[in-house]
Amino acid sequence: MTRMQKIDVKKEIPSEGLVHDRDKGQLGIRADLKEKISHVLISSTYIKKRIKDLSAEIVKDAKLNKAHELQIVIVLKGATAFANDLAQEIFKRKGPAVRFNYIKASSYGEDLSSSGTVSISGQLPYVKNKNLLIVEDIVDTGKTLAELRKYFIKERGASSVKICAFLDKRARRLPGLKKDLHIDYVGFKVPNIFVAGYGIDCAEEFRELPYIVAVKEDYFKAKKKRK
Ligand code: IMP
Ligand code: MG
Repeated sequence: MTRMQKIDVKKEIPSEGLVHDRDKGQLGIRADLKEKISHVLISSTYIKKRIKDLSAEIVKDAKLNKAHELQIVIVLKGATAFANDLAQEIFKRKGPAVRFNYIKASSYGEDLSSSGTVSISGQLPYVKNKNLLIVEDIVDTGKTLAELRKYFIKERGASSVKICAFLDKRARRLPGLKKDLHIDYVGFKVPNIFVAGYGIDCAEEFRELPYIVAVKEDYFKAKKKRK
């Protein structure tokens, strides 16, 4: 459960974003990106700050459960940056040993619109009777995470599955999943706009940006057409 919240993630992030005044200069979007990106939504300072809070929550819960090992399942490719930073913060807080597992799950594919089905691929070590923490970049309709949770519990015999999502676009959640899909740890709640950066892509673009940006609607619609 999200207990320690220095940033009020329950409130939608305003359109000007979580950008510190002192960041504004260095965060100025590069000139060549200006036609593609409307603004920085979450600065790298806020990302770092929030990951410290999230790791503190995870370490606290692991201590309560006397867990010395944490099996994380990183959803490729978008969640890798977040998962790496989170694991390092868990280490700094003397938390459980983090074991990395990777899985590929796609509902969006490259066409930027949900295909309606979720395909799961990738090899995982033995997860039977283990407690897993799925680390995902962004929850949208919730289909991907609902399918992944079902897969690990029903097909792979995991004893429990918790979920940690960097971003939550809750307005888009399928009605049936609003209650049924519990996200144990949420980084930031974001409005219903297309976002990218910090590992998250728009048809493979923008993953290397150190912050989260709002992609211009015209740009991603044009990209979608080109595919
Ligand atoms: P869901 O199954 O509808 O929850 O879709 C989740 C997946 O869609 C995420 O893991 C992302 O890969 C992708 N996605 C959803 N919204 C965005 C966005 O704003 N930017 C980039 N990818 C997104
Ligand atoms: Mg994803």
